[in-house]
Amino acid sequence: MARVAVVTGGTRGIGEAISIALQDMGITVAANFAGSDEKARLFTERTGIKSYKWNVADHQACLDGCALVAAELGPIDIVVNNAGITRDGTLMKMSWEAWNEVIQVNLGGSFNMAKATFAGMKERGFGRFVQIGSINGQAGQYGQVNYSAAKSGIHGFTKALAQEGARFGITANAIAPGYIDTDMVAAVPAEALAKIVAKIPVGRLGQASEIARTVGFLVSEDGGFITGSTMSINGGQHMY
Ligand code: NDP
Repeated sequence: MARVAVVTGGTRGIGEAISIALQDMGITVAANFAGSDEKARLFTERTGIKSYKWNVADHQACLDGCALVAAELGPIDIVVNNAGITRDGTLMKMSWEAWNEVIQVNLGGSFNMAKATFAGMKERGFGRFVQIGSINGQAGQYGQVNYSAAKSGIHGFTKALAQEGARFGITANAIAPGYIDTDMVAAVPAEALAKIVAKIPVGRLGQASEIARTVGFLVSEDGGFITGSTMSINGGQHMY
């Protein structure tokens, strides 16, 4: 039987590329999204991948959403925690709400999804978690204490989860992308973006498909000995 994967934030950007890459591997994919209904509808029309709307920051919604996916597609073997947001501002200007929202979505979402799926993976003796961290969780970034803290937390979360899952056939890894050509990066002002690209040794933004192919390897049967690792995919921008 085909493996079943949930990709959070799986209907656009990096998540869309991951959903498609996993589908190409013969995996049955459920693509979660938060609020962009029309984009999700078009994604499902284009790819045939079912989309499921819930907020990963909402613990109960993750439990209910994963139960629905399992009922419709089968037990969940693979979770890709990709959903993420930015609410940038220097510490002096950042509200508590902007801090909290980013922590709850970008870090809390991974906890909520693991709570919803880990027990079933343990029972069946197979599981794969991949968390999408960030170069800014490794290096820090001006104007992003919330985002950098959440993404840095992702890397610690992954290493601890890897230790808990190892003897049950469950792996947990993180990917720390550099700057990837998606809506999130398109929101960066052109002048600031040009400065960022100038600091990337390979001289370009990354493509979502380059992240997706790595996720595909980590969740495959061949990835069974890779756990607790953070894969940096950043064009040489930060060597960690
Ligand atoms: P996008 O902004 O293009 O897409 C974000 C996705 O996350 C959307 O599908 C969105 O859903 C979903 N999402 C946001 N909030 C929630 C929520 N509360 N519950 C469920 N889904 C949610 O982002 P990218 O594709 O650029 O980024 C994907 C991941 O990669 C993020 O974690 C990001 O931090 C990380 N990353 C991105 C980099 C980049 O350069 N682009 C660099 C390093 C890391 P909806 O469509 O409904 O809004």
